[in-house]
Amino acid sequence: MSTDRIALVTGASRGIGRAIALRLARDGFRIWANYSAGKDAAESLCREIETAAGKAQAVGFSVRDSKAVREALTPLIEKEGVPHVLVSNAGITKDGLLAMMSDEEWASVIETNLTGFFNVSRVVVREMLRKRAGRVIAVSSVSGQAGNAGQVNYAASKAGLIGACKALAKEVAKRNITVNVVAPGFIDTDMVKELPRDELARQIPLGRFGKAEEIAAAVSFLAGDEAGYITGQVLGINGGMYM
Ligand code: NDP
Repeated sequence: MSTDRIALVTGASRGIGRAIALRLARDGFRIWANYSAGKDAAESLCREIETAAGKAQAVGFSVRDSKAVREALTPLIEKEGVPHVLVSNAGITKDGLLAMMSDEEWASVIETNLTGFFNVSRVVVREMLRKRAGRVIAVSSVSGQAGNAGQVNYAASKAGLIGACKALAKEVAKRNITVNVVAPGFIDTDMVKELPRDELARQIPLGRFGKAEEIAAAVSFLAGDEAGYITGQVLGINGGMYM
């Protein structure tokens, strides 16, 4: 397995990001597995990848902290090279009705989900531009496409990601960099464990929650050579929730 190409996955310690890191490692990428609180989980993921003959290292920073992002990534890029793939996956929810929403609930979700994308892609895309190659894939949500009551903050952040990626796709296309978005529906991870699962599954045309591996498969395609002519697109992976 050649591991010349690096893939940076933010929020790789758990859930969808973890599945994406495992899948891209299987595809032959050397993984930079970002974590924030989950150092042990990220290190255990890296051991799992290396046991399967892949290459991976855990990279700690909060995507919200632009200084920490720069300080972690700049020396790593100098030493090891420019990621070919950036998967901007780190995200949080702080659900509640707008009328009751605190400043902190609004700001923390926007700062993590949207400003986090900006902080990381600004560092990485600058280097991709020099290399004239790269793939940026952001993880949005069906909530950013269709809206969802109780998620004004989250839907705004995820719709913002779609706009940001469409604009960025146009900025960088001439340098052979593609920028796409995947927009999952309900996926079985920690993020949805408190939700009323059976009731929600009844509202999904395919009748079930998705698996993290099903998001990873789409990311793998978008990161691969065969997707080189796809840019500025939003791929819904939602069991038919939004068509
Ligand atoms: P989880 O809650 O299972 O995992 C969230 C991940 O994001 C963790 O690895 C966490 O890292 C990381 N993270 C959170 N805040 C930060 C931060 N400030 N800096 C770096 N990493 C951070 O969520 P999912 O796997 O379900 O979600 C992944 C993405 O998919 C999110 O963007 C989410 O919005 C999106 N999504 C999820 C859906 C679902 O149904 N599950 C549906 C649609 C979209 P750590 O633990 O190390 O802090």
